[in-house]
Amino acid sequence: MTDISLPLTILARAKINLYLHVAAPDAKNYHPLQSLVMFADVGDEVALRPKNVPQEARLTCDGPFADGVPTDDSNLILKALRRFEMVTGINIDRHDIHLTKNLPVASGLGGGSADAGAVLHLLRAQYAPDLTDAALEAIAATTGADGAMCLWAESALAEGYGERLTKLSLPAVPAVLINPGIACSTPDVYGQYDRLGQFDPIEASAPFRSIINIDHLIDALSETRNDLEAPAVHLHPQIGDFLTGLSGEPETRLARLSGSGATCFALCDTLADAKRLAERLIEKYPQSWVRACTLS
Ligand code: ATP
Repeated sequence: MTDISLPLTILARAKINLYLHVAAPDAKNYHPLQSLVMFADVGDEVALRPKNVPQEARLTCDGPFADGVPTDDSNLILKALRRFEMVTGINIDRHDIHLTKNLPVASGLGGGSADAGAVLHLLRAQYAPDLTDAALEAIAATTGADGAMCLWAESALAEGYGERLTKLSLPAVPAVLINPGIACSTPDVYGQYDRLGQFDPIEASAPFRSIINIDHLIDALSETRNDLEAPAVHLHPQIGDFLTGLSGEPETRLARLSGSGATCFALCDTLADAKRLAERLIEKYPQSWVRACTLS
């Protein structure tokens, strides 16, 4: 029986890389990195639905960006579900999964990893409440380097390949997210980064462990960068135009690309500023995806 007092729907929050320092590829051809991540109060919606028809699809998907999402075994939700079944020995036989895809796909917002993390929380609550956080994190990690960070969806410093997390206490910060509608392939952007061949040290000098307010956060971020910005702009020059435009807006305290793009973000002082900026951007770029939000 489904316990209806437990959550059946959860928000899979968008991940923002406030900075992203990327080293040269190592012997395994992976890129060590250091990144500050925070999570928006916007995201996909992942739901467990009581199974009525035995042969119904395991995963269904709707929402504004459903077209770009695979619903076969390559979907990170199903990858996480299978791994959960394998690790716990429990057959997920009472529910199917429904995804409402609100986040643009391949956009630097970590939507797939966030969806996987969200379904793991729901499955644990319904099927294996005694499963430890460490075990849940280990399952999430099998979905990709961002699996653990998107499972917890909390402000953190990410190191290693993104899987080594130090949780940070940071002030909530209002922001605007804008995606110009360009799907940015993460492998392509990393490939271009390697071809450009400019590798700077990845250790941030700023003290992100003791940030007390937005001014302090923005000062510290001004000493950091997103190393994938130059290769992403090289592949899609339109991203550069968006970043230049965002930087010039009066409400913008800092504008940058998230992850490998193409979503850009502007940090603002207040949510009212973020909403005002978002309204103007929607008018100026009606084809773009724009959201005012709070990062935490
Ligand atoms: P990251 O910032 O972690 O690189 P991203 O936002 O750039 O993530 P995603 O939206 O997670 O990228 O999607 C990357 C690819 O993963 C897509 O092209 C898609 O084929 C595949 N994918 C698998 N599962 C999902 C999912 N649940 N939602 C979206 N894409 C998924």
